Amino acid sequence: MDISEDGVSKEQLTQKLDRLRKQLSGSLLEPGDTGYDEARRIWNGMHDLHPRAIARAGSVADIDPVLSAAADTGLVLAVRGGGHNVAGHGSVEGGLVLDLSALRGVTVDPDTLLVTVEPGATLADVDRATAEHGLAVPLGVISATGVAGLTLGGGVGWLTRSNGLTLDNLVSAEVVTADGGHLRASEEENPKLFWGLRGGGGNFGVVSSFTFRARPLPHPVLGANLFYLPEHWKQALAGYEKWTRDLPDQMNPILSILVLPPEFEMGEAPWLIIGCAWAGADHQPGLDLINQLRHHAPPDQEEVGPVAWPEWQSAMDSLFPTGARGYWKNVSFSRLDEQVIDVLAGFASRVQWRGTGIDVHHLEGAFGRTAEEATAYPSRASRYLLNIYGFWADAEDDVRLTAFAREAHASMQPFSEQGEYLNFLGGETRQDPEAARQTYGQDKYQRLIDLKRQYDPGNLFSRNHNILPPGQDTDGL
Ligand SMILES: Cc1cc2nc3c(=O)[nH]c(=O)nc-3n(C[C@H](O)[C@H](O)[C@H](O)COP(=O)(O)OP(=O)(O)OC[C@H]3O[C@@H](n4cnc5c(N)ncnc54)[C@H](O)[C@@H]3O)c2cc1C
Repeated sequence: MDISEDGVSKEQLTQKLDRLRKQLSGSLLEPGDTGYDEARRIWNGMHDLHPRAIARAGSVADIDPVLSAAADTGLVLAVRGGGHNVAGHGSVEGGLVLDLSALRGVTVDPDTLLVTVEPGATLADVDRATAEHGLAVPLGVISATGVAGLTLGGGVGWLTRSNGLTLDNLVSAEVVTADGGHLRASEEENPKLFWGLRGGGGNFGVVSSFTFRARPLPHPVLGANLFYLPEHWKQALAGYEKWTRDLPDQMNPILSILVLPPEFEMGEAPWLIIGCAWAGADHQPGLDLINQLRHHAPPDQEEVGPVAWPEWQSAMDSLFPTGARGYWKNVSFSRLDEQVIDVLAGFASRVQWRGTGIDVHHLEGAFGRTAEEATAYPSRASRYLLNIYGFWADAEDDVRLTAFAREAHASMQPFSEQGEYLNFLGGETRQDPEAARQTYGQDKYQRLIDLKRQYDPGNLFSRNHNILPPGQDTDGL
């Protein structure tokens, strides 16, 4: 008899999966089933994984039997929301995927400003539902991204300075834990778990529902893109630094260097773009600030004006189709002086194709004022977050373009500060206590280990940037 490491024979595994299939209101797909190949696809085409089975949840009630089946069969569990995790955590080779992507309901209560979101919803689902009420939840910048993974890791985007990370706007979460418990986590109920969910990723359970507090957002918002040719990049970076020294919270800028999608009609050469979303009700102060930026760094071209929020939130979607190949790195830093500008402009000059890019998010504001200890998110002190990202199409570019991301990351190390944004990290699943300790700092890391001990001592939720439970940690913490 063919027995796996967990002592489950092939025959027993088939029986257990058959039992699971009958328990689901959704479906269970196995290799060879119609739809299996489509269902195994995740955003990052570099992770071409073949799970043993994919449980497509038809309702949140399907979460319980899938967790039981994973524990019972010993199959490694992957939990999928929007499937956009850059490290490929939304799937697993030979394991069991809990695919929540069909559960996309969003309910907005305009009186309480509370927005309740199912675990498979994308950013577009939330933006569409809230915009109708003149509201927004701070989210990321590509609308097909899943709310679940984005929130549990952080959530940086166009409202980070005005309103904080996505996880700063989380009010409560319904969680199914490894032992089958159903808990609510909020500041009042299970506050320690609530702390860990906000930055600790999917380490502690499956979130079956997220409740956010939405923010009033003018309709339309003021959006701006200032474009710079390569010969003006250093001046633009220096101007960005000056301009971001004393910005009001409502101004949310991101500086990017990339080749723009064809619909921008900006050619095949890379541009530096300073994009900004002004979250104030009155557009005039935002326009005055953009004038100041023009003074610090005169653009070669620009687009400034009112824009519908969902449109702004999806403007760059076409660059990042599902199946693109991605390897991402990030660096938190505060200095943007001549030396750092030389380094940034130096490696950015190698961005000469559609397929890699960099973003420099300006932080501070509401994000920076949130107490470091308030959530498990790793770092609040830095002025800037650099994201070095890939979105290329051909496997033959893998070596060259992953090397670009690694080299760019290495060149910024002398200026980097503690903390890494785990959602902007591609490549491998990390089960490295030392890396986790460095990311979170010793105190936070210890708190996360304590939570892991309490909520997932057997590490059922391992397909993430993993907090290893005591006993599985190599240094025995
Ligand atoms: C094109 C693109 C653009 C991006 N833009 C931004 C951006 O602007 N800002 C930003 O902050 N990030 C951004 N990201 C990063 C993004 O936040 C992460 O990749 C995130 O993990 C995606 O979440 P998901 O639900 O789509 O991922 P999935 O792959 O579905 O899930 C990721 C992981 O999250 C956990 N998880 C998912 N659902 C649940 C659940 N219900 N309960 C418990 N754990 C769960 C699991 O560990 C899972 O493996 C972007 C990524 C891509 C690919």
